[in-house]
Amino acid sequence: MARLIDSGPGCPTPTPIRAANASEARGLVYDDAVKAETDALYPLVKDFVTPMEWPAIAPLVAEINRIKKAKNAVILAHNYMTPDIFRLVGDFRGDSLQLAREAAEVDADIIVQAGVHFMAETSKILAPEKTVLIPSLEAGCSLAASITGADVRLIKQKYPDYPIVTYVNTTADVKAECHITCTSSNAAQVVEAIAKEWNSDTVILVPDQYLAKNVAAQTDIRIMTWPGACEVHELFDAEDVNQLREAHPGVVILAHPECPPDVLEAADFAGSTAALANYVKDNSPNKVVLLTECSMSDNVAAENPGVNFVRPCNLCPHMKRITLENILDCLTKMKHVVEIDEDVRVKAKAAIDAMLNLPKTDKPLAFKTGLKPMDIEVISAS
Ligand code: SF4
Repeated sequence: MARLIDSGPGCPTPTPIRAANASEARGLVYDDAVKAETDALYPLVKDFVTPMEWPAIAPLVAEINRIKKAKNAVILAHNYMTPDIFRLVGDFRGDSLQLAREAAEVDADIIVQAGVHFMAETSKILAPEKTVLIPSLEAGCSLAASITGADVRLIKQKYPDYPIVTYVNTTADVKAECHITCTSSNAAQVVEAIAKEWNSDTVILVPDQYLAKNVAAQTDIRIMTWPGACEVHELFDAEDVNQLREAHPGVVILAHPECPPDVLEAADFAGSTAALANYVKDNSPNKVVLLTECSMSDNVAAENPGVNFVRPCNLCPHMKRITLENILDCLTKMKHVVEIDEDVRVKAKAAIDAMLNLPKTDKPLAFKTGLKPMDIEVISAS
């Protein structure tokens, strides 16, 4: 079960605790010039950073923004970044699909991926001519770690007649072995399109068993999957939803499709992080809860000041490896350059292009809620 917090920012921005030392160690001070440069930015994070903490953070922010300009670099910030990164230094913000599209199109020499490693690989796959940096090599992902390219080759040997869809939360090696990628914004659309193309009634969707089960409930296509899970979303359960409804009558409950199916059954709305953010913006519910990673609620709350948020806090430890300090360091020293073998990159790009070439929807697709969870076949690793 998730740790439930009734109100206030779901997870405190960790940076201020370290930022004073971090700025000092890098010879950065909060002088008049930094103050003038950053004063306009403070209101963007005023709910997360106190006025006392701001002089510790502002020099890091000013320096990152200065180096970005000097080096023609951009920062792609995932929705799960803490608000200091998301709102103060991120040039493009969104879910992994939105960021992948930006990586391919953006006019920049350097991309800093404020997200986890598979996202930086996706940027490199789509923008090989750009230098892609990941601020921390420890920013992994339990889903990406759950399956390898060798696993997919074995699946293909075992089930040669079925197309294999990989969620984008996988390594380049895995993408290179699969026929098409999907995100939580388009998973059902991708499954139906590839089933039609292959004239198959069955599709293998790896590695997230919960996403696969949730997609299976939305489509007539038979889906097989892999025993992977997101260590953040798998902690939610239907009991959390019931407790939230009891404690907060009238609350609207939104869930991410990496949550187990009983959560989506009990929720009011489900979709990718982009779909959840759109829902809050379009509907302005009186009181809402987002069953996903902590920082997402903080970032959506900052953009919807009239909405009351109840914040169940499940932190992604991998996303939290990214800090203002290591963003600055990787940009200054050009550290942690992401490289991918060209043969792997070309094959992985074909799988991503197959997804990007599907008709673009105006908005990320929502998952129907209230559907009975489905039992689907989980492929064994042996
Ligand atoms: S939230 Fe889950 S899927 Fe996203 S990076 Fe963290 S472990 Fe991976």
